[in-house]
Amino acid sequence: MIPGPIEFEPEVLRAMGMATTSHVAPNFIETFGKSLEMMRDIWMAPNGQPFIVAGTGTLAMDMAAANLIERGDNALVISTGYFGKRFKDILDRYGANTTILESNVGEIVPIDAIEKELSSKQFKVLTITHVDTSTGVLVDPKPIAELARKYNVLCILDGVCSVAGEEIKQEEWGIDVVLTGSQKAIGVPPGLALLVASQKAMEVWENRRTPVSSYYSDWNNWLPIMRAYEERRSSYFGTPAVNLIVALETSLKIIGAEKIANRVEKNKKLAEAFRAGIKALNLEILPKTEEIAANTLSAIYYPKDIDGAELRSRIAHYNIIVAGGLLSEIKASYFRIGHMGSVSSNDLISVLSALEMALLELGHSFESGKGLQAFQDNLLASNEKLSTV
Ligand code: PMP
Repeated sequence: MIPGPIEFEPEVLRAMGMATTSHVAPNFIETFGKSLEMMRDIWMAPNGQPFIVAGTGTLAMDMAAANLIERGDNALVISTGYFGKRFKDILDRYGANTTILESNVGEIVPIDAIEKELSSKQFKVLTITHVDTSTGVLVDPKPIAELARKYNVLCILDGVCSVAGEEIKQEEWGIDVVLTGSQKAIGVPPGLALLVASQKAMEVWENRRTPVSSYYSDWNNWLPIMRAYEERRSSYFGTPAVNLIVALETSLKIIGAEKIANRVEKNKKLAEAFRAGIKALNLEILPKTEEIAANTLSAIYYPKDIDGAELRSRIAHYNIIVAGGLLSEIKASYFRIGHMGSVSSNDLISVLSALEMALLELGHSFESGKGLQAFQDNLLASNEKLSTV
């Protein structure tokens, strides 16, 4: 139950174990082409340019920065935790003049602070972390993307902890790059960097004055490959991660069959019910309000008088693995539970039960059974069609 790698569907894991074909075998060309097409549906970017490259989510961030930034460009990072700071490091590496607007822990950056910054000078790009996995804070990208358009700034969304788990309408909302890694809500073992770029982002890249300084990230190397596979032609730059891409096609088909909007909605209902369960255990989450609480993971403070490592190990005793804190300032004071991908109400009932037992063992004060009860009540109230969850 950590926030990535998540648990994968058996079909996806079977795809990982199949005999590896040539990267130019006809069946693999079809798989690659189809996966690119299906990405447009999940991202809701019918005119976007998808990229599938072997690497992690950080490579997808690196690719966006390497291709869109030229030395001296101004970049604005809107940060709600650890991964915002990482984006600043990456942008700086490619020579950007980066301004970072950091929220208080558990809060978002106020929209007027963003507008104030955007109106102070011309920025080339801004970045948003949709869900910062270190804090469990969810940022609404819509109003920020609107501002980006108003000030003629490219808008990049780090969707590593949100794509296929939170609502994203890339084209309608005018976001220029939405990027992720395979191991989270997309539901594929770690190893693929996935990104969809808008036509505007591709034009900005085409009109660069200077070459892209990263060889591996350069879209000059990858764009012809993506185009070829979509046109069902073979092509080569770097050997594709064949099994991971077969697994990607499998997972995207599972998501597509459920329909992305239904999946996101289901995830939201489960997450809301889970948070109700957490609160009923007298636990506090990092995000200060419900509106900015992520639906893909929950970051939860340990009760004051309870040792965090001890709590996590007792939860593990009941066969549930959760993650520790990540944000350095408060690392030892909270833990994180992932609930994205194919997570079900059964999974979350098991988590709440393990958490309750571990807390009772450690003498935390709450009424036994209250967490599970709140979870069920909330789910029943919010979901007339419980059978679909
Ligand atoms: N951004 C966010 C929001 C993340 O959660 C992560 C990974 N936890 C990354 C970026 C980096 O992804 P990766 O670990 O796959 O490089």
